[in-house]
Amino acid sequence: MTKVPSITLNNGVAMPQLGFGVWQVPDDEATATVSTALEAGYRSVDTAAVYENEKGTGRALAGSGIPREELFVTTKVWNTDQGYDTTLRAFDASLERLGLDRVDLYLIHWPMPDAGRYVDTYRAMESLLADGRVRAIGVSNFLPEHLERLIGEVGVVPAVNQIELHPQLQQTDARAFHALHSIATESWSPLGQGRGLLEVPTVVAIGRKHGRTPAQVVLAWHLALGLVVIPKSSTPSRIRENLDVFGFELDEEDMAALAALDEGRRLGPDPATFTGL
Ligand code: NAD
Repeated sequence: MTKVPSITLNNGVAMPQLGFGVWQVPDDEATATVSTALEAGYRSVDTAAVYENEKGTGRALAGSGIPREELFVTTKVWNTDQGYDTTLRAFDASLERLGLDRVDLYLIHWPMPDAGRYVDTYRAMESLLADGRVRAIGVSNFLPEHLERLIGEVGVVPAVNQIELHPQLQQTDARAFHALHSIATESWSPLGQGRGLLEVPTVVAIGRKHGRTPAQVVLAWHLALGLVVIPKSSTPSRIRENLDVFGFELDEEDMAALAALDEGRRLGPDPATFTGL
């Protein structure tokens, strides 16, 4: 079975570099889908309260027979729960739905800067960390300006910033900022949501050269850049395909060709303004 390499977060916790994303997997399908992923060899799962599939995900974790310490579970506090007390309550509810007594990584899902609550939200997460109920805390969709403010006001530098990132949105400035602060960059929608990216001729041609699929080329690109990556699929063969990316490496020419695909265009919302409401 494939052994996924880990990266070491800024607090010493090891996080698998490739995990399984479950956005848009309905709760009643999540148990079967996550079980397929765990059987294939994934050990890290990325969910969120707002995905409404923590229960189904938790059932797959419990039914897998895999020792808890070999699993890495991420969930996120949703926008409407931001604030100190509300975050603590939202965390309890997530844990209960997951059927766990701790999660490995807890993230603020979106910064919602205009609401002005992400510092309080994060302070609640710091207390969860101090209590040992989470092993690492971080953020998602934070722009460097949000991170700068947060780092200036709290004690624990976020371990992770999970952001939209794929060859058509390479986030070079954000990655440099994260590196400067020892924050791991985690790529969401790493395959560009399976839309046009996987048909781009450059990606297809690199795949042909290595005898790999376009999805495998894109995932190898994330790994080569040292990013954490969480592809999603509900199709068993693709779930396995997306994990089978450690037997080849992109060369300099491939990396240069992929670097040229950056369009700086988001598929998802703008973190400066998104509230989800
Ligand atoms: P993705 O880039 O992982 O693409 C998934 C889609 O690509 C699938 O639905 C399928 O249509 C296609 N696909 C998957 N494997 C394929 C393959 N091997 N060949 C061809 N097509 C394939 O998109 P995503 O689900 O948006 O992102 C992955 C994960 O990132 C999510 O499940 C979620 O966990 C996380 N995420 C987080 C945020 C956030 O705000 N923090 C936002 C979006 C996604």
